[in-house]
Amino acid sequence: MVTPQEKYFFQDDEIIVFKDIKPASKHHYLSVPKQHISNVTYLTSDHKELLDKLIQCGKKVLADNGGDTNNIRLGFHKPPFNSIDHLHLHIISPASEMSFLSGLIFRPNTWWFQALVIYWTLEMGSSERTSSIELFS
Ligand SMILES: [Zn+2]
Repeated sequence: MVTPQEKYFFQDDEIIVFKDIKPASKHHYLSVPKQHISNVTYLTSDHKELLDKLIQCGKKVLADNGGDTNNIRLGFHKPPFNSIDHLHLHIISPASEMSFLSGLIFRPNTWWFQALVIYWTLEMGSSERTSSIELFS
């Protein structure tokens, strides 16, 4: 869930990073583009720089707030499991301290939570969006 009224931690012309109102672990932020993109299925290679920025700024906010960037889970919910009709990147840390339920909801590379696979496939210039590269151990 996202409430834009939440106090933001980072903002510029393109993106905003703020706290998730239902944190899945000690740190849980959402990195959101201001440009309207409904969900990951609308991403194209044109969005690569934007995705880069969502990730880097999300990680920076995590680090600035004392989070461990080495114990992190990043990803997007896929339709119909995206709670709002606007793309948002989850940044969760420590990933190892997530509750059982949260671990399930934000489990990497399930068909409802795409853990940046889309980012990597864009980076590789592939149009294949269904590959399941394991990014997390
Ligand atoms: Zn979500």
